Amino acid sequence: MKARKSWAEPFKIKMVELIKMTTPKHRLKAIKEAGYNTFLLKSEDVYIDLLTDSGTSAMSDRQWAGMMLGDEAYAGSRNFYNLEKSVQDIYGYKYLVPTHQGRGAEHIISQILIKKGDILPGNMYFTTTRLHQELAGGTFVDVIVDEAHDPKSEFPFKGNIDLQKLEDVIKKHGAEKIPYVCMATTVNMAGGQPISMENLKALRKLTNKYNIRIIHDMTRVAENAYFIKEREKGYANRSIASLVKEICSYTDGATMSAKKDALVNIGGFLALNEWDLFEEARNMVVIYEGLHTYGGLAGRDMEAMAIGIRESVDYDHMHARIGQVLYLGDKLVEAGVPIVHPIGSHGVFLDASAILSHIKQDNYPAQTLAAELYINSGVRSMERGIVSAGRDKKTGKNYYPKLELVRLTIPRRVYTQAHMDVVAESVTDVYENRKKIKGLKMVYEPKYLRFFQARFEP
Ligand SMILES: *Cc1c(COP(=O)(O)O)cnc(C)c1O
Repeated sequence: MKARKSWAEPFKIKMVELIKMTTPKHRLKAIKEAGYNTFLLKSEDVYIDLLTDSGTSAMSDRQWAGMMLGDEAYAGSRNFYNLEKSVQDIYGYKYLVPTHQGRGAEHIISQILIKKGDILPGNMYFTTTRLHQELAGGTFVDVIVDEAHDPKSEFPFKGNIDLQKLEDVIKKHGAEKIPYVCMATTVNMAGGQPISMENLKALRKLTNKYNIRIIHDMTRVAENAYFIKEREKGYANRSIASLVKEICSYTDGATMSAKKDALVNIGGFLALNEWDLFEEARNMVVIYEGLHTYGGLAGRDMEAMAIGIRESVDYDHMHARIGQVLYLGDKLVEAGVPIVHPIGSHGVFLDASAILSHIKQDNYPAQTLAAELYINSGVRSMERGIVSAGRDKKTGKNYYPKLELVRLTIPRRVYTQAHMDVVAESVTDVYENRKKIKGLKMVYEPKYLRFFQARFEP
């Protein structure tokens, strides 16, 4: 494999946060107390925290300076208008409804657009997105390309929608049953895989034919744009900013978790182009989040987001961000560890069903692997397999996802190359001793989004 070129960061470090080094004995006790669920570990007991890239990024000095400019007025905060301007300038959407994070926006758009019995096609489910669709009476249908379910396939755009599958769904249920297609950039649950511009354009054409909206889960749209620039013919000379704007232009509205791309610790929004929908959303946000000019956020949070959105579309930033992810992925490939290919934008996904092939899916191979990795080195990762997939709301039966993964998610601008070396060493060590590892059983299962709070025993 040829080594990739340097991806050195376009920043230097001004402040550091000290972290605790722990012993294997300490970690064994900690994971036991956490019910073998990395979500239930205390952050203090973690050395390198790759649980998620959500809200864990380091803000820039400019964002921190922006925090001091917080206008904490109840109504009409200046920071709201700055955020609105960023959303209009960078993404091109007309109307902004701020929310406390992405799921706040998902809740509102689902309640407004989904009726009981509706069908929601999408490029693979996301946990909170699907749940809000179901709570509103809808049923999610996966229309992602088959390659997305194959961790070995090197297909460069595994986030693509299979337009034939989508058209079959439309014909089967009727366009009037489909309030919108949910299109994510990049697809988190497939391993951070992008959708191509070509596919998106064709999706727009098809949905126009049937008069169906596209709602954009734009959580990692700038990361998706980077992959289009790198991989798709005809886009190499385009800026990330122009690609981001073009992607958004093919959609009718968006839900955003600003805790990812937009480099803030908290925040999100719903963005819309239709005045009627905006009016309704603005009305609903008052019930669930807060007034329409703050939506559950402090003025300072909106200011940091307004600045973070602009920083997120800088090429050098994105090159270093994804470069670091690829660096870790390449190291694991070199060591022979089975991972999802191609390496995604926000993390490296370990193929737990291949690594722990002697453990049945009912004994949670990915959950087990995440716990073992923590015990080995204090690296915290996350299960993305049968525990995350949950149960069918009608039959109560477990979903059996084809992918049983452990996600090593890289926060933006937080860890160094040496940290990535530690992670690679630890994963390799666990991999080499995999035959000794035994599975888990679930001893406590919460009703909703069980992966967050479920407990296990060996
Ligand atoms: C994180 C995320 C969400 C939900 O956003 P929150 O800010 O966590 O509420 C929705 N979709 C995708 C793809 C995400 O990664």
